[in-house]
Amino acid sequence: MEVKSEIEQLEVIGARVHNLKNISLSIPREKLVVITGLSGSGKSSLAFDTIYSEGQRRYIETLSSYARQFLGGLERPDVDKITGLSPVISIEQKTVNKNPRSTVGTITEVYDFLRLLFARAGDAYSYVTGERMIRYSVDQIINVILTRFSGKKIALLAPVVKGRKGHYRELFQQILRNGFLRVRVDGEIRDLTEKLQVDRYKVHDIEIVVDRIPIKEENRQRLTESVNLAMKHGKGVIMVSPIEVHRNMEEIGEITHFSKFLMCPTSGISYDEPAPNLFSFNSPYGACGRCNGLGVVKEIDIHKIIPNDSKSIRSGGITPLHNISNNWTIRQIEAIGARHQFTLDTPLREIPREALNAVLYGSDEIFRMKAYPGSGDADHSFVFEGVINVMTKAAEETESPALLRLVDEFMNETACPECKGARLKKEALHFRIHNKNISELAQMDLAALRDFFDGIEAHLTEKQKAIAKEILKEIRSRLQFLLDV
Ligand SMILES: [Zn+2]
Repeated sequence: MEVKSEIEQLEVIGARVHNLKNISLSIPREKLVVITGLSGSGKSSLAFDTIYSEGQRRYIETLSSYARQFLGGLERPDVDKITGLSPVISIEQKTVNKNPRSTVGTITEVYDFLRLLFARAGDAYSYVTGERMIRYSVDQIINVILTRFSGKKIALLAPVVKGRKGHYRELFQQILRNGFLRVRVDGEIRDLTEKLQVDRYKVHDIEIVVDRIPIKEENRQRLTESVNLAMKHGKGVIMVSPIEVHRNMEEIGEITHFSKFLMCPTSGISYDEPAPNLFSFNSPYGACGRCNGLGVVKEIDIHKIIPNDSKSIRSGGITPLHNISNNWTIRQIEAIGARHQFTLDTPLREIPREALNAVLYGSDEIFRMKAYPGSGDADHSFVFEGVINVMTKAAEETESPALLRLVDEFMNETACPECKGARLKKEALHFRIHNKNISELAQMDLAALRDFFDGIEAHLTEKQKAIAKEILKEIRSRLQFLLDV
């Protein structure tokens, strides 16, 4: 007997995700259906961001609340209605290799639980001193403030929104009702009004200005009350900044974070209470700032710029200048040469180092040349940016694939000097479980990782064990599953 589903159509009504213009359509079920169209016509918006996304969201809603709290709520795609939707999977054009030699770095689900483990149970170490981070009591924080900011006026801020979108009108009204007069929005102090709101489509950082207070021993009582209040609103985190006066305007100076949670006893740096996204190189809160979470950076390779230094500039010694049609640049270099005693025909190795550096990397020197040939005495003065600087800047700013390819020819990809290829920011790499950071674990192969977790309890405190119990169970069963497949 043929089993036939009762619902024969997948219906999408009023989809408006990204560039979809309120479209409705029916797709036959149990058929192989292909979506085609011009690039940018919204194929992925329909398939991935509407249908798959809604299916995924419905699936997550069926999970236990324990699992759900870590996956977070998915936003409902902008669509009026989808009916006839089966459980969805999406297959992207990449493969996951599930052999024991593969690492969890490639297997997202295990990595997600590792992130959770590190956020909940990781030991934090200072990236300045290497010391174990400790949690201060409110009394200790007050003493640090009294010492470090003695004689200054400070602003005491309580962070309430960090890197999230929204217009926050209700939040501002709530803060106003709580008796505060000012907030700091994206670094700028604003007076609170009933109508205050911010761009709902942008990501914001919002802090309550809890107090502005001169730091001296007589104010200890008021400081204590304000710190406690700020701690309450900032959920254990406060920000302190000296108030500096410029041209009769008060300005917020450098921000210091104080946390009931984690702080380096010597340097005073503090970490935010870690959330799983601190350990994600796809999140701005986790990604290494230097390489944006890619693990590699591209740098100009001088040997590709000057492959043979016995050549002169005119004979193509500086490769990017060889085919240059920009006569202006060549004339600028001639002007540099006039001052530094070289010509376009001087072999590069004979050009003084300082002068060659000026050509390649620019200098602060002001050069003069004729505005254009035959312009008599009309002079033009210029500062030379440097061939390599111009290329690097072009590579960062251009969206032209042709120009990028051109610059790419002179670049080498190297491991990011900041994160050494680990892709995460340094705070994230200074959380450890049994002496390993998350990147080191992610690079282990599955069998080694299972062995690492086998006896892990012996290296955890009672508190860590209690917090990590469920997470460890999930990690172990997944690792075993992957090894058994
Ligand atoms: Zn990096």
